[in-house]
Amino acid sequence: MLDFAIIGGGPAGLTAGLYSTRGGLQNVTMFEKGLPGGQITQSSEIENYPGQIEIVTGMELMDKWPEQCQRFGLKHDMNEVKQVTKNGDIFSIKLGNGDIVESKTVLMATGSVPKAANIKGEGEFFGRGVSTCATCDGFFYKNKDVIVIGGGDTAVEEAIFLANICKTVYIVHRRDAFRASPHEVAKMDKLDNIVQIMNHTSEEIIGDNSGVIGLRVKDKNTGEERTLDGLATFIFVGRDVLNEPLKQDDGSFLCETNEAGEVIVDLSMRTSVPGLFAAGDIRIEAPKQVVCAAGDGSIAGIQAISYLQ
Ligand SMILES: Cc1cc2nc3c(=O)[nH]c(=O)nc-3n(C[C@H](O)[C@H](O)[C@H](O)COP(=O)(O)OP(=O)(O)OC[C@H]3O[C@@H](n4cnc5c(N)ncnc54)[C@H](O)[C@@H]3O)c2cc1C
Repeated sequence: MLDFAIIGGGPAGLTAGLYSTRGGLQNVTMFEKGLPGGQITQSSEIENYPGQIEIVTGMELMDKWPEQCQRFGLKHDMNEVKQVTKNGDIFSIKLGNGDIVESKTVLMATGSVPKAANIKGEGEFFGRGVSTCATCDGFFYKNKDVIVIGGGDTAVEEAIFLANICKTVYIVHRRDAFRASPHEVAKMDKLDNIVQIMNHTSEEIIGDNSGVIGLRVKDKNTGEERTLDGLATFIFVGRDVLNEPLKQDDGSFLCETNEAGEVIVDLSMRTSVPGLFAAGDIRIEAPKQVVCAAGDGSIAGIQAISYLQ
């Protein structure tokens, strides 16, 4: 019987492991299907982690985190979690290898992943001008022209964020109206350096040895093609929340989620189910940054101790 089962070994899960073990919990296991570190290990340049002055890769940033946690007793089980259920006060965690582990508390810290737009050049130039995070990468294109693909809330909000940093922001949307909230669209409409390219599909991200140089778009009405010049293409076409382990046999979720499948938590990272916490990118209104995920994880670790007391 575990005291605390942590599902996901990214910044949120690792920090929860650190705080819970250092705070006195004896029996804490982090289930991570791959190597610990999380999705930030895919990033080639991070310059917004506090105290980290030199630009580092995600691998470098996360290198020492598991070692620090394990020093205080966190155990790592390299296993995928398939399902979490609750019977009475106890959680059952079904693992990919068929084992079932029981725990008194559980943290969901499995994150979320951006959806791909499936455009030519997207994979080739990912990390070399193709990005899914304006907060992370916008500053690299200060006073330059950039392109945003998408028409929902995230696309519009990120275009507004980029407009503060970049010279011109082209936002390309395949429909004739944005799906984002009217309030956000009205804010965007007021910004002179956002150029809205409506009713256009994104055909190809164009680049050379230096990275992205533009995006080829096609007018849906006339079929005419042209290239927008920009040194980065930010893609915001939705996210897949990795909430699969919360799905119950009847198709419902173990705890409350919003329409996008993000887990609803309070400021203590508590879900609607006592003893079940969620932290990091999987939770509602997550800023999707390493420092925020780590902050969430520390709160969840502290709260798990308090719940068990
Ligand atoms: C390319 C890129 C660049 C980025 N740049 C920056 C940046 O510059 N600055 C910044 O602050 N943030 C950046 N981010 C965002 C940052 O990586 C995330 O906000 C952060 O990693 C979220 O942490 P998390 O712990 O919530 O989730 P994640 O980091 O996604 O970790 C979740 C972990 O759970 C594991 N997992 C998932 N499902 C299961 C399961 N069923 N069983 C077991 N394990 C599971 C995954 O393998 C993963 O390791 C970037 C992200 C990407 C992809």
